[in-house]
Amino acid sequence: SKKPVRVAVTGAAGQIGYALLFRIASGEMLGKDQPVILQLLEIPDEKAQNALKGVIMELEDCAFPLLAGIEAHSDAESAFKNTDYAILVGARPRGPGMERKDLLSANAQIFTVQGKALNKVASRNVKVLVVGNPANTNAYIAMKSAPDLPRENFTAMLRLDHNRAASQIAAKTGGTVGGIEKLTVWGNHSPTMYADYRFATIDGKNVKEAINDDVWNRDTFLPTVGKRGAAIIAARGLSSAASAANAAIDHMRDWALGTNGKWVTMGIPSNGEYGIPKDVIFGFPVTTENGKYKIVEGLPIDAFSQERIDLTLKELTEEQDGVKHLL
Ligand code: NDP
Repeated sequence: SKKPVRVAVTGAAGQIGYALLFRIASGEMLGKDQPVILQLLEIPDEKAQNALKGVIMELEDCAFPLLAGIEAHSDAESAFKNTDYAILVGARPRGPGMERKDLLSANAQIFTVQGKALNKVASRNVKVLVVGNPANTNAYIAMKSAPDLPRENFTAMLRLDHNRAASQIAAKTGGTVGGIEKLTVWGNHSPTMYADYRFATIDGKNVKEAINDDVWNRDTFLPTVGKRGAAIIAARGLSSAASAANAAIDHMRDWALGTNGKWVTMGIPSNGEYGIPKDVIFGFPVTTENGKYKIVEGLPIDAFSQERIDLTLKELTEEQDGVKHLL
């Protein structure tokens, strides 16, 4: 049987953590033959640490055969020791009266500390996924704070936007969500993201031709996908957690186990592809194999798409400029 791998999760006692940990422990992320050790991080605050204890009791009570160990931590350096995977969920939520720049700098602090800790103690092959918002910029900060780790190990979650787009397309065309290929989402995990179905097929049929409605694309589809998080908060009174956790599972599973040529969307550091400046963490179409992702290159970018890509890039550049002095 396989040797256990270490999976660190931050914000482990939060909402997303509660929807995520049980699925990692049951083998849905890394395979039904892969034992895992969970290294859970929460803030030192007594309430958070107690909540974490409760989650751990529940994990124990599931008696998951693949769960080879559980650790509770209150500092990043011990939580990330030798970790093979790190899912960074914990982040500072926007409080009352907090400006965007306050939010950016509160999170910059958290992700500088965590990047440095990963740099110091994690496995040299650690795969890092940032979920906590602003996810792309937080991933950028962590990457910049970890100069001894390969840049490509740092990623941000665009998969929820991708999955949201897939579900809207299936509903619109009457096709099956599992039958969608070659869909992608460009840019920032924010309402400026650009979900692009120009190349997509559903059950073998061309999506753009099947929908054949550019007004729907611009005025209904893109705003629906972009504002889906807000719609869920309005309906549920709480932010989306299960779907965010599900997207984190999809992202890590596909990165680790491969996509067999299928496209998925990951937020990854650019090397200049599609005119995106180097190091910007941007949503791109990728395929994965043997634990590595590869950007799908050479796609034609029409005027509308370029405009949307420029818009989401502009937002990301502004976020990065807002934290530059802290790095
Ligand atoms: P959640 O678990 O609901 O959310 C955690 C983070 O994920 C937030 O930044 C949230 O962004 C983000 N996120 C990304 N995508 C989504 C999505 N689609 N839907 C919802 N959220 C999304 O937050 P909780 O407050 O329940 O839990 C956070 C936990 O993190 C707390 O227990 C806190 O103590 C802990 N924490 C841990 C830290 C650490 O380990 N060092 C540091 C800071 C906090 P958004 O705010 O935009 O919703």
